[in-house]
Amino acid sequence: MEFCSTRDRKLNVSAANAILSGLAPDGGLFVPTALPSFSPAEIAAMRDLDYNACALKVLPKFLPGYSPEELSSYIKRAYGNNFDVADDPAPLRALGDGLFAFELFHGPTCAFKDFALQLLPHLLTSAAKKCGCDQKIAILTATSGDTGKAALEGFADVPGTCICVFYPDGGISEIQRLQMVTQNGNNVSVLAVRGNFDDTQNGVKEIFTDKIFEAELSRKGVLLSSANSINWGRLAPQIVYYFYAYSRLLKNKALQPGEPVNFCVPTGNFGNILAGYYAKKSGLPVNRLICASNRNNVLTDFINTGVYDVNRPFYRTDSPSMDILISSNLERLLFMLCNDDVKVNGFMERLRSNGRYGIGKELLDKLHGEGFCAYDSDETDTASCIAETWKKHAYLCDPHTAVGLDACRQYRTARDDRTTTAVLATASPFKFAPAILRALGQNPPENGFEAIGALERFTGLSAPERLKAIRGLPIRFDQTISRSEMRNAVLHTALKWPTG
Ligand SMILES: *Cc1c(COP(=O)(O)O)cnc(C)c1O
Repeated sequence: MEFCSTRDRKLNVSAANAILSGLAPDGGLFVPTALPSFSPAEIAAMRDLDYNACALKVLPKFLPGYSPEELSSYIKRAYGNNFDVADDPAPLRALGDGLFAFELFHGPTCAFKDFALQLLPHLLTSAAKKCGCDQKIAILTATSGDTGKAALEGFADVPGTCICVFYPDGGISEIQRLQMVTQNGNNVSVLAVRGNFDDTQNGVKEIFTDKIFEAELSRKGVLLSSANSINWGRLAPQIVYYFYAYSRLLKNKALQPGEPVNFCVPTGNFGNILAGYYAKKSGLPVNRLICASNRNNVLTDFINTGVYDVNRPFYRTDSPSMDILISSNLERLLFMLCNDDVKVNGFMERLRSNGRYGIGKELLDKLHGEGFCAYDSDETDTASCIAETWKKHAYLCDPHTAVGLDACRQYRTARDDRTTTAVLATASPFKFAPAILRALGQNPPENGFEAIGALERFTGLSAPERLKAIRGLPIRFDQTISRSEMRNAVLHTALKWPTG
């Protein structure tokens, strides 16, 4: 009985059960009922651990019911040789002035989501065994660009599973799309959905809470689960790298044991930054959690005013993985702040009916007291940040990371805080070569791969081989559907492929 729903604290399940179901049956998200606590000595001792050893210290505490032996084998398989730099899958790059880019994009799909999605298939297939489930697991995923590919890469040909990925038609970069539609594996489907990411994500959420559909699938031997960050199995692995970042900063003496650090996180669905908050609540010395948004700045407004209001235009930007107005994981933060399922229900009900809710001064003060602050960066400032970072530090950042770096600059100017700060570098710049070239004052070639080549020539850096390798792969998926056709697509995917 270790997890409960944000909308019903009496709905208690195990970690395995939370991971297997993804979303709680009442539409809420599963949250731990108590958090582990790491002592200063335990944290200081992480200085000498490599990534896998650090993961083995942290993960078991967030996944009760999974043994350390079991997790150790999953960790080895997930991070062993799937990342570019085997002995340091998440390198820190010093940018001077106590500022670091914490690079989380050296995995198979060149974005931070690999950290969670290389591990999730192991956690999920094991969860099915622990829960005595012998049904085929159909993974349903809405993606704003990076989750989809990372999930496909994680679940392709995993026995007993199939995966259906939905992305907003026209709402992701060309390379992100090609990464997905060329995916191999006999248990995968990729579909474009007319509308934006919020439409796609809402479509997926509707499917999850549709009891009639669930029963129909169940009769056919299929159980739905999610690879989105609504799944606890996505969040737990992300907590690890906050501890790891801290341990590296200790090792290179940017921090003394116990000294606080700031994390600045380019944010969309609020999963990544929330993992940082879990790390903080479990004892990691974190001062500020700086939430960075692009022009879709609903979170900046929320964190500054306490009013969440999606009644605003939706913009497509050069940081498409953050083009989101409804940040699912905020619900988990609200629950943690007020510890009141009735209140959370009220907020979510108002969000559904009016697209707007306010949390009041008391909760807002609490939010700030926990270290949250927020800044946003429009397209012009993001582009200048890319150019300036390249000019000043010869450091090439992707547009999402640039939003983070620009937020960090704004924070430092506004608050005059010189605390050592790690900005999470969430994707490889080569995933967004045309946007980067434009930011650097170049005229990008139309074709995404030619843009990658042009960016390599302009910067003298090499693009990840895995991105270049997509060129020339056959396109396997080219269907565009409407939101109302999503159920059928799921059914079709689940029944098309034989059970493993
Ligand atoms: C998903 C993603 C984000 C946003 O992360 P959330 O956990 O959704 O807040 C930021 N940058 C990149 C490159 C991403 O893929």
